[in-house]
Amino acid sequence: MPHHDRSSCGELRLADAGKEVTLAGWVDALRDHGEVLFIHLRDRSGIVQVVFTPESTPQAVCDKAAELKSEFCVQVTGRVIERAEGTDNPGIATGGIEVVAADLDILGRCAALPFQISEKSMTAGAAVKREETVGEDLRLQYRYLDLRRPNMQEHLIRRHRIVKSIRDFLDEQGFVEVETPMLTRSTPEGARDYLVPSRHFPKNFYALPQSPQLFKQLLMVGGMERYFQIVRCFRDEDLRPNRQPEFTQLDLEASFIDEAYLYTLFEELTARMFKIGGIDLSRPFPRMTWQDAMNSSGSDRPDLRFGMTFQDATDLFTQTRYGIFKQILERGGCIKGINVQGASERLSKNVLQNEYAKEIVPGFGAKGMTWMRVMDGGLESNIVQFFSEAERMGILERFDAKPGDVILMIADPSWSLVCTALGQLRLHLAHRLDMIPQGVYYPLWVTDFPLFEAADEGVTSSHHPFTMPDRTDFDPGNIDELLALRSRAYDLVMNGEELGGGSIRINDRGLQQRILQALGLGEQEVAEKFGFFLKALEFGAPPHGGIALGIDRVVAMILGAASIREVIAFPKNRSAFCPLTQAPSTVASAQLEELGLLDLGGDRPLPGAHAKKDQIETLSWVSRIGIGDPERPAIADALAQAAACADRVNRQASPQDAPLFRVAAVSNRFREGREARIHSLSENGELFKNAPAEKGGFFKTAAVLD
Ligand code: ASP
Repeated sequence: MPHHDRSSCGELRLADAGKEVTLAGWVDALRDHGEVLFIHLRDRSGIVQVVFTPESTPQAVCDKAAELKSEFCVQVTGRVIERAEGTDNPGIATGGIEVVAADLDILGRCAALPFQISEKSMTAGAAVKREETVGEDLRLQYRYLDLRRPNMQEHLIRRHRIVKSIRDFLDEQGFVEVETPMLTRSTPEGARDYLVPSRHFPKNFYALPQSPQLFKQLLMVGGMERYFQIVRCFRDEDLRPNRQPEFTQLDLEASFIDEAYLYTLFEELTARMFKIGGIDLSRPFPRMTWQDAMNSSGSDRPDLRFGMTFQDATDLFTQTRYGIFKQILERGGCIKGINVQGASERLSKNVLQNEYAKEIVPGFGAKGMTWMRVMDGGLESNIVQFFSEAERMGILERFDAKPGDVILMIADPSWSLVCTALGQLRLHLAHRLDMIPQGVYYPLWVTDFPLFEAADEGVTSSHHPFTMPDRTDFDPGNIDELLALRSRAYDLVMNGEELGGGSIRINDRGLQQRILQALGLGEQEVAEKFGFFLKALEFGAPPHGGIALGIDRVVAMILGAASIREVIAFPKNRSAFCPLTQAPSTVASAQLEELGLLDLGGDRPLPGAHAKKDQIETLSWVSRIGIGDPERPAIADALAQAAACADRVNRQASPQDAPLFRVAAVSNRFREGREARIHSLSENGELFKNAPAEKGGFFKTAAVLD
């Protein structure tokens, strides 16, 4: 059948009644009424009901239809008819009609399904029995089946529309899409590189790009003036739930422009993208300096969908008799707080003292938290008696406190610790008290970041080393001066998430060299890593700047998807592993040899050897339990048994097998309590060396569930 003769299942309507149509797709669901068989036939456009009935369908076709099962791929020819009264299905767009089958071709049979795909019930009003708890790894292992679900298809189609809107808009604005290399040299964006060994240059490696940063700047030197690219970037970072080792970025750069140009351009672009999800963003987007963002919300990506921003209370306590505050202020510290309005019923003394002050806030890095409940007669707390009348009045006024409010303060010698701990507390409370409105989108530009951050030795770039500083008259050897520099960088933030960021760049070779020097790179290292780039800056480099936007994140936000993995066709799982292709995998030693990797020379170990050796370390780390040398053999043995068992399961399973499920009961696997004894390993700190915190002579360890 020529492709163009096929009708789309989801588009048939009453107006098509009487037409002969040919449809192709998958059997979404079946209802067998003895003689009569109904199926829901699904293609990308939607679902239509097909009926096989001895009155209108040839017997041979009915017999063939009896073989159908869920997700068989079929082609059906038949006549569209209006459904008999009372049999409409308003749950599907084609619910007023059905197709009476005249012919059927089974194009592909389907093995037992690992999970249900159908999302639509066949009878009006009936609920779909759907296994909502399908594990994500199972979905990813059978991603091609998961992708058949209309919800996933919708995500990919909308993603396509959003990306297309970017291309259309930037094309209108005179931007040209240019591809940059995937096999390249390291570009610093603060992550580790994914390396690719070269066969032609044994023991030499390409790096996959962390971003096209240097190439896009070289395109500006090359006179392209306005560049963009929808590009894959690779960053080997620590695992986090909403991160992927490879992700897609809209990367953009323009010459002869300033921040104002980029803000306007990007606001229009962002508004267009969100519009595709039916979300209207008002413009211009507000702007906030990094300093103000930290001072008011303790974050460089403030979530401003709700209030509870910080008040500074340092000046209220300059004469205080309250010892803790006094000492902190003597050490140059500060005190900041938030007013949790009307929360005193939900935040009892017990919750404030035992949960927040003792457990939660120390987990955010602060030593403690001061809490006060506002009552009709004034403030109530465990320390309020240490405050003078003037201090109490000052607090009430500063926080605009009303009876029923709760005031929480954090004090510390370190300004940044006060900000970040209070910022985390603000978010924690907002979630706990359900203060974050849904369906609200709050974009914000954060500007004037510090150019550098303090590192173990010297400084590192807050963004990347190609960002223009606010001043150029600095001494690259003076750390204090370097830490006081601000950058001409900007981040686009929405609802507490960083969607993108960029900067005006350095286009002067001398300045670029001094920045690299400030980062502690020696002359030789600079020449080796960035010589080609510095050279380009000698040839009339134009002033330029740009930005990059995380497409996966933006699309997930626009579509309200639970994670970026829901908007990527073939993502890695949370452990950066691909359950579908089982990547990464080991390779044959012949391949390693060909790449010159079998003998890296000297005492450098073989690739992979380190990971193997450290399996026990890894286990110790994830379980937060220190494992001493005497325990290692037994644990190594248990690991080997587990690996062998997994191997057996893998070998036995064939693609046709229905997957096996086992629900592990959550049970307490800890030993019953026994009299405390001091283990010899604990004396040197080995036993709990991975415990996240120590408190009152106890180590905190994570509970490990089977
Ligand atoms: N290269 C930067 C990044 O990927 C963005 C930029 O500065 O344009 O984060």
